[in-house]
Amino acid sequence: MAWRCSGQSNAELIANLFKSNIISSNSVSRAMSRTDRALFCRSDHRDYAYLDQPLPIGNDVTISAPHMHAYCLELLEDHLKPGNRAMDVGSGSGYLVATMAEMMAPQVEHVVEGTKIVGIEYLQSIYLFGKENIEKYQKTKDLMNQGIIEMIKGDGWKGYAQGGPYHAIHVGAAASTLPHALVEQLANGGRLIIPVGDIDQHLMVIDKDINGKVTQKKVMGVRYVPLVNPTNCK
Ligand code: SAH
Repeated sequence: MAWRCSGQSNAELIANLFKSNIISSNSVSRAMSRTDRALFCRSDHRDYAYLDQPLPIGNDVTISAPHMHAYCLELLEDHLKPGNRAMDVGSGSGYLVATMAEMMAPQVEHVVEGTKIVGIEYLQSIYLFGKENIEKYQKTKDLMNQGIIEMIKGDGWKGYAQGGPYHAIHVGAAASTLPHALVEQLANGGRLIIPVGDIDQHLMVIDKDINGKVTQKKVMGVRYVPLVNPTNCK
């Protein structure tokens, strides 16, 4: 069922998320306004792109609902700044990589040195779908050609140490336990947002302070697909 923020257009969807206080910052509003969700949906679902609900993208995977994307971007907002490094684990459609890039590299000709956005996806067909979507925008395509955006086919449990340490990590699938590698790959002062649990899942915020001390808190109950262990998959 569509949630209350659905719109007739991308602009209306974002305006409704703002009115409902799910989006509260200008930077998230701007990034989501400039990233047309329809381009990250399968062509046969584009008519539903502005409904506030998850939509199938193949292999029993969905692009997350816009209110969850907005909520997670707001939680990471302070960390998604030019010059920082971010990673989206279980990057699926590539939507969050594109919105993170809008926040961290708003002008492709003037990207602050060190800026990096990594997407990791383990399913080959979904990895290709996400990469193709990133290539649909000239801007994100240019950022990928410059190596500022990197789409990796790999195991999210292991992260991608080469691109880190990260100021912001988002995980789009529920981990049975907190993945140690991802906590390790957080920069001092960084933040990780991750759903944790099997049937009873909670969105967790993990902060690493400037001295490297890690604290965690539960923010709300959620339902995500599992962060699988790829070695158990065909
Ligand atoms: N946030 C994304 C996708 C969410 S669905 C979007 O909105 O488009 C979660 C994704 O996590 C799926 O694409 C799934 O294939 C991926 N995934 C699950 N386990 C993974 C793992 N161990 N490593 C990398 N990706 C994984």
